[in-house]
Amino acid sequence: MSQKKSSPLHWQIFIGLFAGLAAGLVVNLFLPQSEVVKWLAANVAYPIGQIFLRLIFMVIIPLVFSAIALGVADLGDVGRIGRIGLKTLLFTVVITALGVGVGVLLVNLFKPGAGISENDRQALMATLQSNQSVSAILTSAEQKKSAVQTLLDFIPRNPFVDATFAFDPNYQGGGLLAIMFFALTFGVAMATLEKERVEPLAKALQALYDVTMKVIDFAMRFAPFGVAALIFSAASQLGVQIIATLGKYVFVVMLALGAHLVVVYGLILRLLAKRDPIEFFRNGWEVILTAFSTSSSNATLPTSIRVTTERLGVNRDIANFILTVGATANQNGTALYEGVTALFLAQFYGIDLSLGEQVVVTALSVLAGVGTAGVPGGSLPLVVLVLQTIGVPAEGIGVILGVDRILDMSRTVVNVAGDITLAAWVEASENALEKA
Ligand code: ASP
Repeated sequence: MSQKKSSPLHWQIFIGLFAGLAAGLVVNLFLPQSEVVKWLAANVAYPIGQIFLRLIFMVIIPLVFSAIALGVADLGDVGRIGRIGLKTLLFTVVITALGVGVGVLLVNLFKPGAGISENDRQALMATLQSNQSVSAILTSAEQKKSAVQTLLDFIPRNPFVDATFAFDPNYQGGGLLAIMFFALTFGVAMATLEKERVEPLAKALQALYDVTMKVIDFAMRFAPFGVAALIFSAASQLGVQIIATLGKYVFVVMLALGAHLVVVYGLILRLLAKRDPIEFFRNGWEVILTAFSTSSSNATLPTSIRVTTERLGVNRDIANFILTVGATANQNGTALYEGVTALFLAQFYGIDLSLGEQVVVTALSVLAGVGTAGVPGGSLPLVVLVLQTIGVPAEGIGVILGVDRILDMSRTVVNVAGDITLAAWVEASENALEKA
């Protein structure tokens, strides 16, 4: 059988979004409250959406464990090389947290997900009720634990128990956060042992990671249908309002990314690296273009190494080192986007997050940034994880996925621009030390 060359996946997903949206809007306009539509939503759209989501859910535990353990072990490895490693680590944590902070501030300011009426929201939630977990998630989000207990629960007594109940909304232990803590500790321990002793384990973890990413790949092939189904459910309930809501969401993510790129990186370049930001980015333009068109920090790596050493005048050792680690670990744009998305979807589903919970989202997003692969859509499984941890229905991913490609291209620019900014700063501070 001859096979036609299929269009790129992001276009298929976009078509899925468009088809689901159009069908949902038509139904909302002409057949409101129809029994047939309700039947279709429950027996066709719901299972299709669920297949897509469950394909992702089923690999989240091994993915998070291997990604974070490996990511931290690598960072630690770099750390042994001394100052440069420490600076990389510091920049990654502080500047990423700052980026997420900018995003969180803007979501609170613009409230892109908040325009939905209480009636519509109830109806939207009702379509998710067949997924018994949503009402339970909401109930359990209301059962508050003491602060001390919450902190203690981050440290798992038995990580297997936390893994088993990670997606159970009634579970009172640490769940996914405890798994993340376990992976973090594991990675730190790996980094402190001699390389030869942990190498087999690192290889096994790398293989586990590769396999889970492949499964995510399978899920993504199903994404056009999943997105069509999930957006159909939302659009048939909300009507045209969904378009305005999504538009506001895209606007806030772009604004936050832009502010981080221009203000935060601009200040670092000007004050710490002693460079003219405009000239810096003009010379590094090729890196920005490659990141934007490939949507992948990893695919941009060869270009960023070449441009940073040849055009931005950074020493080759520093550039190799920082850009390679940064392509996976220093994901400012991704972390920012994850924070904004989690809060947007919380607003969308009418879930109030306290200041403390927003701080948890920020910390989770920074960690998720470290754990995100530098490939197109690499952050998707980690967004599901953040949503799950703060009790926001993971179905929300279907609402945002259709517009993700452009956001992915843009956040990759911020990720990679962060790496070259970091390289410039480290270069300047190392030079200053040498002169002193
Ligand atoms: N595409 C991003 C990168 O490669 C990762 C993501 O946010 O999905 O940097």
